[in-house]
Amino acid sequence: MRPNEALTRLDVELCFDGAPASTLVADLPMGAHVLESARDVETGRKLPVDRRAREIDISSLGRDACLRYGVDLERMPPGRRRLARRVGDAMLLNVSLWLWRPLRLREGASATLEFELPDGAPSMRASTPWATIDGPGERYRVPATTYTWRSQVVLGEFDLDTVTAGGATFSIARLRDPALEPVALTAEGQRRWITTAAETVASLHGRFPVPAVQLIVLPFGRGSSPVAFGLTGRGGGASVVLLISSDASDDDFIGEWVAIHEFLHLSMPYITAEDVWLSEGFVTYYTSVLRTRAGFRDEQAGWEAIVSGLNRARGSVTDLTLREAAAQMNQRVAYDRVYWGGAAVALLSDLALRQESDGRRSLDDAMRELYECCANSPRRWSAAEVYEVFDRWAAAPILSDLLARELDRAKFVDFDRALRALGVEIREDRVVLSDEQPAAGLRQAITGAPASDRAEPGRQ
Ligand SMILES: [Zn+2]
Repeated sequence: MRPNEALTRLDVELCFDGAPASTLVADLPMGAHVLESARDVETGRKLPVDRRAREIDISSLGRDACLRYGVDLERMPPGRRRLARRVGDAMLLNVSLWLWRPLRLREGASATLEFELPDGAPSMRASTPWATIDGPGERYRVPATTYTWRSQVVLGEFDLDTVTAGGATFSIARLRDPALEPVALTAEGQRRWITTAAETVASLHGRFPVPAVQLIVLPFGRGSSPVAFGLTGRGGGASVVLLISSDASDDDFIGEWVAIHEFLHLSMPYITAEDVWLSEGFVTYYTSVLRTRAGFRDEQAGWEAIVSGLNRARGSVTDLTLREAAAQMNQRVAYDRVYWGGAAVALLSDLALRQESDGRRSLDDAMRELYECCANSPRRWSAAEVYEVFDRWAAAPILSDLLARELDRAKFVDFDRALRALGVEIREDRVVLSDEQPAAGLRQAITGAPASDRAEPGRQ
């Protein structure tokens, strides 16, 4: 694929190994809209394009044939620019906008892709979610999930850094937006931020859940939180987008929750939308627990955050069960209810496993089992399938029985008893941690605070 210097058009040449497919399709309607003509490279003949069906008929191509097509990004209507978004001198490009694929994708099929960056723009570079292939030039292996799940590349001028942490390599593309205030985060601060977040997540399973991550850091302007928003994608490989505040200093980023939260998604399989309470809930629980375990805050502050999240969820969108809230999360703006409702299920599950085993096993072990078997699966998983894994691992339906009680509970997940069992008490709106055993022991097993921390008054 060859972009022009202005990043307004792309020339794509596709070659087949052996017999070509008979039809190419674009996964996005906009893909057909921005397509110029497609031609057989050998004969120069125009290939029939059905724009409504988003298909190119390539049945006339011979073995090992190539076709070439142009993509005119200027044809995008202004309101649809999120598929090809310009930030400063770089362009974020949804891959399905310009990479047509065979109509029938064989399972495990992959393609090889190479960029030809224009000679006139020596500082132009590319960031992708794909693994590189050894050999001369930047060649990438493009797996089928590139098309089935959202994936994007960044082309143009941006800062590129590589961080290795928790056994994973993070290729960080940081874009500059001249329309916004310059970002205060330094390159060194960014490295510390990503390293500490990756190590925190790696502490759950002993290593970071995937070997490589395409990380895209975008400025969003001023904001009170260091990171305003994050999004994890899995198309073509792991990819995380983080929107950072221009105000936040290097230290503000250390231990912030968004990067940890997004990275944690990669430790679970991609969960179906109707079971979003499971992915967001368990990730929310572990974001909270791991930040305390890592020492970014003390045990008291860690449990205050959990209690506050649970109470917020219990008090919002009170007419829906957790299952209903997950199904209507966007329409009803039920994010707290779903994220912290799912976190409450995770907390109860963790406690149940620790209690029935006298502390020999916990939700950490169940999550590790799920990670080992299924986190890198190329399809989406339902909660029912995940709970089959949990129950098989536990050799008893401990977790699915618990879920059956809580998922359709009319009020909210019943977490008060769990907090009491952990010695987390609410007295006059304040969270008070009890030092009495066994509650204190159980609680410290979850948040991992060393015993000495409790003896130091005033510690933050
Ligand atoms: Zn999330």
